[in-house]
Amino acid sequence: MTHTVIIGAGIGGLTAAALLLKAGQRVTVLEAHVYPGGSAGTFYHQGYRFDAGATLVGGFSEGGPHARLAQVLNLEWPVKPVDPAWVVHLPDGRSITQYSDPQVWHAERRRVFPQTEPFWQKQKRLADISWDISTRHFPWPPASLHEMGALARAVRPSTLYALPYLTHSINQLASQNDPLFKTFLDAQLLISAQTTSEHANALYGSAALDLPRRGVNHVKGGVGELAQTLVRWIRQHGGEVLFRQQVTQVEIGSTGRATAVKTNKSLYITGDQFLANLTPWGLAELLGSAVPQKLNRELKQRPATWGAFTLYLGLEAAQLPANLPAHHQVIVDLNMPLGEGNSVFVSLSEPGDGRAPEGMLAATLSTHTAVTPWWKLYHAQNEAAYQAQRAEYSERLLAAAANVIPGLRQSIRLCKPGTPITFQTFTRRPQGMVGGFPQTSIFKARGPQTGIANLWLVGDSIFPGQSTAGVTLGGMRVATAVLQATPPVKSIQIDPFVGIDMNA
Ligand SMILES: Cc1cc2nc3c(=O)[nH]c(=O)nc-3n(C[C@H](O)[C@H](O)[C@H](O)COP(=O)(O)OP(=O)(O)OC[C@H]3O[C@@H](n4cnc5c(N)ncnc54)[C@H](O)[C@@H]3O)c2cc1C
Repeated sequence: MTHTVIIGAGIGGLTAAALLLKAGQRVTVLEAHVYPGGSAGTFYHQGYRFDAGATLVGGFSEGGPHARLAQVLNLEWPVKPVDPAWVVHLPDGRSITQYSDPQVWHAERRRVFPQTEPFWQKQKRLADISWDISTRHFPWPPASLHEMGALARAVRPSTLYALPYLTHSINQLASQNDPLFKTFLDAQLLISAQTTSEHANALYGSAALDLPRRGVNHVKGGVGELAQTLVRWIRQHGGEVLFRQQVTQVEIGSTGRATAVKTNKSLYITGDQFLANLTPWGLAELLGSAVPQKLNRELKQRPATWGAFTLYLGLEAAQLPANLPAHHQVIVDLNMPLGEGNSVFVSLSEPGDGRAPEGMLAATLSTHTAVTPWWKLYHAQNEAAYQAQRAEYSERLLAAAANVIPGLRQSIRLCKPGTPITFQTFTRRPQGMVGGFPQTSIFKARGPQTGIANLWLVGDSIFPGQSTAGVTLGGMRVATAVLQATPPVKSIQIDPFVGIDMNA
């Protein structure tokens, strides 16, 4: 029986592990931390359950990646739809609400940005194509004849409409020149494509802008329950998930294939296939001098990706307005770049949902931040300067949120900041770089190959990138590729979507 070893219990790693287990393989997941989920994990602190990163998740409506996975594995996700998805607070004091209902959203965008209808017509058509493709097995970029075949089968006549837009950016779809509208688009794209409208690929960006209409959800008990659900499923079906096992080395044998992993607790586990639920930088650390040349070149050429600065707040619910929407995106200053506290995402737990002590709410506030300045301060060992920077960013986030949520400051009973250093510590992502690569070009998308035949990347560093839905699609793609690379299990057949016919 093929044994696949998975390094990391993020959503991407767990999804691939569950599919391979279902397909008849033996799987072992090794997780450094004491709980699963990584950037989509929930941690316990003083009676609160705080979502560490992700707070609002898509892909659970029919045909969505999480829904499809649930069908394949026969499991139920602990989710609840959220509508409206979130409220965007613009720098001029107005707000625009991201309603899930397409009719209501149509009226809302006409109210706030009446000149932009031609853009939304194109966006919708491209989004429909992207979402349609994502319901089929679409191994992008293709890396084998199998994958070329899968791609050819996935293309439909309707897909051809997208051809002229393959190299376009979102900016090229939006012909009119309203700086406020551009900032609105930029803020949406930064959280979903890790880049702004001049750079975001038109097809990818159109799908990302449609996320609220495709349905977003709260996870009961916190977003980490998605990963916990997968861990339970894997264990119930005979797979292994081991916590507190930080992989410290991937061993490469004389044939150039991965043969085993070592952990900080002296576990030595051999396997046939290896999945790294890591960034390429994280994988390189485990390979040491065995890093393939191509991967080495890639790491030298790639600029650092974004980090996150977060605030975890315990709030007294009685101090806040009743019927407050749970999610807000605040853009502070039209003339400043987004991120670094100038665009802040605010998520609140629901009253009585068990994520906070009686009468309290758990909130996660986050903003994009460049990682390098944080590490410079940290390495300078100037504790005072590091603390001052942390305090300044905390204040930026609080000011942004307090501007749109009356009573917020008075309601704070607990406040815990998180910097890229915190993210590196808790998700083990080098330099605390989160969210994967900016989705600027379909043709520069990164696949799961590592340069070592039986070692694959999975997670938000591979196409289609970030979000729990995105890494679920990536996990399905990698599971399919692993199955194609291993001797077939008798009763398992290849299916055009996840690659595994679960009825066999
Ligand atoms: C602030 C923030 C907000 C976000 N908001 C949203 C949102 O609202 N909705 C959404 O869908 N997405 C959101 N995202 C993105 C989403 O959380 C991620 O894209 C996704 O969860 C990444 O999953 P992954 O599979 O790449 O694994 P990761 O989350 O990177 O997890 C990897 C796991 O591997 C473990 N690991 C690492 N190294 C080792 C090792 N050597 N040995 C053993 N284990 C190891 C880590 O401990 C971790 O558990 C957000 C991200 C951030 C940071």
